[in-house]
Amino acid sequence: MAKDNLTAVLYGIDDLRLEQTPIAEPKDNEVLLQMFCVGICGSDVHYLVHGRIGDFIVKEPMIIGHESAGTVVKLGKNVKNLKIGDRVAVEPGVPCRTCTYCKEGHYNLCEEIIFCATPPDHGSLRRYYTHAADFCYKLPDHITLEEGALMEPLSVGVHACKRANIGIGSKVLITGAGPIGLVTLLAAKAMGASYIVVTDLVEKRLKVAKELGANKVLQIQKDMKEEDSIKLIHQMFGGAPDKTIEASGAEASMRIAILATKSGGTAVLVGMGAPEVKIPLMNALIREIDIRGVFRYCNDYADSLNLIASGKVDVKPLITHKFKIEEAHAAFEAAKSPASNAIKVMIYC
Ligand SMILES: [Zn+2]
Ligand SMILES: [Zn+2]
Repeated sequence: MAKDNLTAVLYGIDDLRLEQTPIAEPKDNEVLLQMFCVGICGSDVHYLVHGRIGDFIVKEPMIIGHESAGTVVKLGKNVKNLKIGDRVAVEPGVPCRTCTYCKEGHYNLCEEIIFCATPPDHGSLRRYYTHAADFCYKLPDHITLEEGALMEPLSVGVHACKRANIGIGSKVLITGAGPIGLVTLLAAKAMGASYIVVTDLVEKRLKVAKELGANKVLQIQKDMKEEDSIKLIHQMFGGAPDKTIEASGAEASMRIAILATKSGGTAVLVGMGAPEVKIPLMNALIREIDIRGVFRYCNDYADSLNLIASGKVDVKPLITHKFKIEEAHAAFEAAKSPASNAIKVMIYC
């Protein structure tokens, strides 16, 4: 086997290094993967620029990357669900499987979860990587490995739509047209939503949302009054949306998510922002708006795979930039600079 295991390691703020790391032996229930591609996520960029997300702090050098797919090259001795040569999408969080959260089916909330590139756990941006076999999803022949890597953000969208109970006929407002807003749009359409409006500050992002199937888009102006934005949103729906999925993390959008939603409806918060924000809670209370959180995904990968395999969702247009692992610095530069208009930057290992 090749000895080359070029790896992207984050040492601290603005200190990403490419170096060789040992190729691990798969444990009994793991597989060794030859990685094909890893998408850059907003969280990866955040760790590079700020060295932390909330209480997750990069204290030791950490291998970056968690939106990935690769080919099985070696099997642990107990692995039965995969064979050598299988192409797989990697679900990056492996929970303990024994705690109350895991047993109740909320393994995304497991406190012992090992999650790629969330400190102190290493990620998958390297040529060879070992992972729990039951968190690898075999891709059918007609699905590319890029699509496999994009199952990670898509699963966030699928989970958010499930949390919002989106179904046939749902009228959905999505605030924020970044990668997560866009995958939420794709998932919501595939899950039966009949009318979707997407808002953002940036016109170019809204153009993409339109191309991906939003019925209407609304460019919010920074100086726009809250009630005027809501009025415009209601005009577009011919009433109020039943569900809002907030995918920007901005306080102003979280407020709109509550205020614009129909009484008795649901506001789902997936965008991460400041730890504390000011929201109109009394309005939510008297109008029985259910406010629900979203953290990553749980039992959503199989559904994401089905959405892609059946052709109901096409994630390929999300890839705007491609780099080799040797060009990781340029890749992160493109991911963090607004001028590049990147949606998803893909790095090939
Ligand atoms: Zn991600
Ligand atoms: Zn657990």
